[in-house]
Amino acid sequence: MSLFKGLEQIVRCNYPLAGLTWYGIGGPADYLVQPQDVGQLQEVVKRCQDAGVRIYVLGAGSNLLIPDEGVRGVVIKLDGPGFTQMRFDGEQVYAGAGVGLGALVLECVKRGLSGLEGLTGIPGSVGGAVKMNAGGRFGNIGTVIESVTLMDINGQVFQKAKPELSFDYRSSNIASKFILGATMRLASAEPDQVLRSVQEVWIYKKNHQPLDARSCGCAFKNPPGQSAGALIERAGLKGFKVGKAMVSDKHANFIVVEPGCSSKDVLRLMEIIVDRVKGDFGIELQREIEVW
Ligand SMILES: Cc1cc2nc3c(=O)[nH]c(=O)nc-3n(C[C@H](O)[C@H](O)[C@H](O)COP(=O)(O)OP(=O)(O)OC[C@H]3O[C@@H](n4cnc5c(N)ncnc54)[C@H](O)[C@@H]3O)c2cc1C
Repeated sequence: MSLFKGLEQIVRCNYPLAGLTWYGIGGPADYLVQPQDVGQLQEVVKRCQDAGVRIYVLGAGSNLLIPDEGVRGVVIKLDGPGFTQMRFDGEQVYAGAGVGLGALVLECVKRGLSGLEGLTGIPGSVGGAVKMNAGGRFGNIGTVIESVTLMDINGQVFQKAKPELSFDYRSSNIASKFILGATMRLASAEPDQVLRSVQEVWIYKKNHQPLDARSCGCAFKNPPGQSAGALIERAGLKGFKVGKAMVSDKHANFIVVEPGCSSKDVLRLMEIIVDRVKGDFGIELQREIEVW
């Protein structure tokens, strides 16, 4: 492990990534690195850059499909103490990239802060959520973000704030490799009221999404003015299976997997869905799930 000499405590070789993703499938990474703070992250990135090794950033793995053959390079997961802090100052909150959205939403309920209830039931990290402006019909994270702390591939740490920062449907204009944390502006409210909103969102999701099965949430983005789920359903694909991957019969935009599923099954099923929807409606669905 000469690439990471002296950093052995935070580096694991040939590490199976399946257990770090919501799908629970896919192969190993050459290296999994879990830096404890920004200094260690900078050191790891410098060594990878010098050696020409590819870097992947992993959040909570809830929007990712890892190929069966795994990934060649270094997967960096920002879940050390330097990346999991939450700091509250009145209506402003800073959350590190590795903070789980569930923990953040609950802390806001306790403190009577409103603005993040719409993220209830989204199992990502702050870093992953900021990257793709996670959210949906109840609100998106981008709406409450004031600034983000970023690090580029040369180890430079800097802030980007609104209006320079913009968020769109499942996307942001953040091009830096690493999101280290985000500062959000929330609104004071009665904790009971915030809790009620969280419960309403949760009940809606439980009724409409297959939360008891392994998935990565919506597999495809909604085309402008259309619902990807409705198109897939109208194409007659609810319940359609490839191997152990299946179009959920509860929500057609969720691809759920059973034990023993391979990433190839999921990829093949996605291809079939794209072809079928294109053939039936002339609309080319774009993946929401990221494939490494
Ligand atoms: C049951 C279920 C329900 C879901 N519902 C929703 C929903 O309602 N709305 C919604 O938007 N999504 C939903 N999702 C998808 C997913 O939870 C979100 O996209 C989430 O924001 C992904 O965050 P993550 O930390 O898991 O990112 P990952 O899946 O780990 O990574 C996703 C992308 O973000 C990048 N990334 C992660 N962390 C960082 C970082 N710190 N710096 C730079 N890049 C980073 C990764 O490199 C990758 O490109 C759902 C998923 C599941 C399983």
